[in-house]
Amino acid sequence: MEKIRNNVNSIKNKILVMSGKGGVGKSTVAVNLALALADEGFKTGLMDIDLHGPNVARMVGLKKQPEVVEGQIFPPEVLPNLKVISISSFVEEDAPVIWRGPMKTTAIYQFLGDVAWGELDFLVIDSPPGTGDEPLTVLQTLPDIMALIVTTPQAVAVQDVKRAINLVETMHRNPLGIVENMSYMRCPHCGEITKLFGEGGGKNLETLFSIPLLGSLPFDPTLVGFSDNGKSIVTHMRGSELEVAYRSTVKEIVKRVNI
Ligand code: ADP
Repeated sequence: MEKIRNNVNSIKNKILVMSGKGGVGKSTVAVNLALALADEGFKTGLMDIDLHGPNVARMVGLKKQPEVVEGQIFPPEVLPNLKVISISSFVEEDAPVIWRGPMKTTAIYQFLGDVAWGELDFLVIDSPPGTGDEPLTVLQTLPDIMALIVTTPQAVAVQDVKRAINLVETMHRNPLGIVENMSYMRCPHCGEITKLFGEGGGKNLETLFSIPLLGSLPFDPTLVGFSDNGKSIVTHMRGSELEVAYRSTVKEIVKRVNI
């Protein structure tokens, strides 16, 4: 534990991105947060600990392997100000990943204790959905971790996300805020708004837990096409409703941290 605390000592803000269930856009929010922060000049690290579905590497265009020197892991810099470490660098491509609980915990300890980040303003950690070993280990190990909760407006997603927030609260960790993703879609032809997944999820959570709703992001089909190779919402979708909403969400996050 002491080794881990020393290793992450020079990281000012650590953010764990969590969600109740898969498919709500957690990785998209995590990767784009890291890309947006790096774009604004913050020294940023992105750590992908989703052992079962690591797709962060593709989204940021991670091609270089980390260097391992005398037990220390040096994360590649994929863009100016952005270093990335992903569990996918340590498993063969397309190999089924069968890890048991203790193995996952060991891998995460290693990531936290052995990755030589240097000085960082932000470390963004993308964990698998739910309240399994991975988010639990990070919450347990890092007392100053801040949890960013991603949900959709849907009641079912909200039900699962309550469990994630309860975990954060039970462990006395700091909930940074909630991001509601896929809040609505605007028809590109007539401008009409469709609430694809109902409404109110983020707002209800904000009221229930007194955790700030930091932003509501629209569904934008063009995102699916380019969500790889380091193309980000803030750099490649300038002027879109999604970019405006995302930029304002990032601003809310930056307002609440120690910079
Ligand atoms: P999770 O990490 O929660 O499983 P992902 O971030 O992998 O979810 O997103 C699931 C899918 O939804 C991806 O194809 C992603 O590109 C898409 N997606 C996420 N957010 C949006 C959005 N706001 N608009 C359009 N597509 C989105």
